[in-house]
Amino acid sequence: MCYAIPGKVSAIEDNIVTVDYFGEKKRAYNEFDNLKIGDYIYAQGGFVIKTIPPEEANSILAVWRETFFELQEHDLRLSRIDIEKSGVEKRLTLILDKAIEERPLRKDDFLYLLNLRDSDSKNLLYKTANFLRQKYLDNSCCVHGIIELSNYCARNCYYCGISVHNSKIPRYRMDKTEILSTVESAVEKYGFKALVLQSGEDPAFDTDFFCDIIREIKSRHAVLIFISFGETGLKSLEKLYEAGARGLLLRFETSNPDLYRKLHPGYELHTRIEHINYARELGYLIITGGLTGIPGQTNRDILNDILLTKELGAEMYSFGPFIPHPDTPLGTHPITTSENILKTIAVSRIVDPQNAKILVTTAFETIDKEARLSGLMSGANSVMLNVTPENLREKYSIYPNRAHNEESLQIQIDDTLSLLYSLGRAPTDLGVSGNRQV
Ligand code: SAH
Repeated sequence: MCYAIPGKVSAIEDNIVTVDYFGEKKRAYNEFDNLKIGDYIYAQGGFVIKTIPPEEANSILAVWRETFFELQEHDLRLSRIDIEKSGVEKRLTLILDKAIEERPLRKDDFLYLLNLRDSDSKNLLYKTANFLRQKYLDNSCCVHGIIELSNYCARNCYYCGISVHNSKIPRYRMDKTEILSTVESAVEKYGFKALVLQSGEDPAFDTDFFCDIIREIKSRHAVLIFISFGETGLKSLEKLYEAGARGLLLRFETSNPDLYRKLHPGYELHTRIEHINYARELGYLIITGGLTGIPGQTNRDILNDILLTKELGAEMYSFGPFIPHPDTPLGTHPITTSENILKTIAVSRIVDPQNAKILVTTAFETIDKEARLSGLMSGANSVMLNVTPENLREKYSIYPNRAHNEESLQIQIDDTLSLLYSLGRAPTDLGVSGNRQV
């Protein structure tokens, strides 16, 4: 099973190649020396990650050929919208018209969207975001996997269940052999083409260990590696890139520096931002975003979070609800609503219509069983599956009762693909986004 379909190289210009998927052209970065026009490749996150023999590519493409167009048509049907007939407030139709026609929206417009309350208006916002997703990015959907290497963490984040505040959870740390065999099965058995390696800020893991693991993975498998080890330091980001990591998942958590300080005593927002900026300059793909529904956060803060995500040049937007964990200082805070997350997703799409990969986070799925469906129909186009060995998942309890904790990887894959197909989506790569530097 693949979470990407093969494409054919139709043009090469320096390190950028044009990849043809049944006539549809996408661009990707190439780091292979001997790639030629006519070669078949897999791309992920806009990077060429593997070349494949033509016979193999053709047999996979033969299976996909009909499905590819059927899915696209189905998606197109589901994304139609008629704003004029919606009967909502005039101001909303004016704002959404601007969004559709790609005229600039003001901050006040975005805020108005985040403040919407009545269902018809919210539904129209979601539909508009879905329309824009289809218009610019078609039916592609990213399916990444995430492996949680360790739940030891030296940080004091007030909201997080694996922070130093939690003295109750049993801690675990995967060793090199376990990590490599988990990656091997994810890539070779289950077909993942992009994996996030995540960990608490575990003092026992150092940069050399991570570099060794990444080098080992890259020498054995064709896979795009994202790191998510917290604030590793800038020098480490360089070494990890050198070792083969090509993506960084690091949320800034909140764009409000005062709120950030309250949630992370002794730490500053600008350090995190500096990491993200430096990583992007080094060439990493960036996944970032924040927590929605943290104490003291306003819709203006959430809008600033979305705008900051764009400013940071994120490939992928990651916004999820803050879910209180009983063994942390914020354990009794109420959870935000699904609508607030859907509005965040939809406004993110309107802010960055042409490029954004927008994730339906597991935290969102944890507060709402329909999150994946509603998120994908409100502007989102990415999901991340939990590839951590089943016996460890429960212990990576950043928040309680995480969705999919009990599901085998095969079940997660089957459910994801059947949902994607039912919505006309295909797990193909979205190509290089326009706002990245070459
Ligand atoms: N050490 C890594 C990984 C942290 S955990 C890092 O610093 O990036 C991954 C993400 O889980 C965090 O970025 C945070 O946004 C999210 N998270 C932590 N606690 C949470 C909670 N209670 N509810 C929802 N999301 C939470």
